[in-house]
Amino acid sequence: SAKKAGRGQHRFFDQSLNLKDVEEFHLEQSFAEALRNREFVLHYQPQVCLDSMKIIGYEALVRWQHQEFGLLYPDRFIPMAENSGFVIPLGLEVLRLACAQVTQWQVEDVPVRLVAVNVSPIQLAQPQFCRQVLEIISEHGLKTGQLELEITETAMLDARAVESLHCLKAAGVKLSLDDFGTGYSGFAHLEAVPVDKLKIDRSLIAKICNSHDDSPIVSSTIILAKRMHLKVVAEGVETREQLVHLKVAGCDIAQGYHLSRPIPPAEVPGFLRAFAGSEAVV
Ligand code: C2E
Ligand code: MG
Ligand code: MG
Ligand code: MG
Repeated sequence: SAKKAGRGQHRFFDQSLNLKDVEEFHLEQSFAEALRNREFVLHYQPQVCLDSMKIIGYEALVRWQHQEFGLLYPDRFIPMAENSGFVIPLGLEVLRLACAQVTQWQVEDVPVRLVAVNVSPIQLAQPQFCRQVLEIISEHGLKTGQLELEITETAMLDARAVESLHCLKAAGVKLSLDDFGTGYSGFAHLEAVPVDKLKIDRSLIAKICNSHDDSPIVSSTIILAKRMHLKVVAEGVETREQLVHLKVAGCDIAQGYHLSRPIPPAEVPGFLRAFAGSEAVV
């Protein structure tokens, strides 16, 4: 009966909630050990220049190769890592992994010039963050201009984070504002923060359905960004139509499943060869 089904549903709901709590607790307890065991890995998603259709860099995206749960995506553990403070050692590990990978690609003659790493606002607010980043870059023999940090709008609201940004920018590290168009979206904030690029969030890109669609928010964001001398990146480009539309609207760089999913580093050389040999995607 309906009553029985209702009760069953309720019990199931309670159970899944408990399971989630237990799992979260378990994950949180195993963070430190996972770090020691090198269970955190990076996948890389290419960013493509729309003028030349050449790959200009890669965004590094963290995954947790968990012994029990398999490959975990950041949405499952980054919020937790931010709450527990674990995001700070994790973030340093991600930076080391990304820099080590670029060094290795250089040795192997794989042409990767730029890697973009996501940084939590919590980490950015650490007073020693800028110094730590510069140390990691020099330990790996990279140039500061080969590293880009992707930050979010919330970081711009914290004075210590803004200080880190000025320090990093002065040293030549590239800065990119991620997920633009989702939060408080102040072009006003933008004037106070020294970013080089603006990444339009994929929720806005998803609204570009066909080339007839005007998508005024995307086009005006591109125009405004250019007036501020910022490069514009579109994230979450899933179709050829979106790519064409963005190119016509003057967007500089595109990233998304239409070009490539994030891939493990071992697949990057093969991807590069295939991409260079293809008649491109526009
Ligand atoms: P994000 O920086 O905005 O990264 C873009 C996300 O969109 C990635 O999800 C990527 O896999 C996904 N994506 C890329 N192209 C497409 C597409 O065409 N369609 C769709 N539907 N999705 C696409 P992912 O890897 O799950 O990462 C989610 C978020 O986790 C990231 O969003 C970033 O905020 C955070 N994150 C990832 N790696 C790190 C990290 O190393 N440190 C920190 N603090 N945060 C990270
Ligand atoms: Mg990002
Ligand atoms: Mg983003
Ligand atoms: Mg996003």
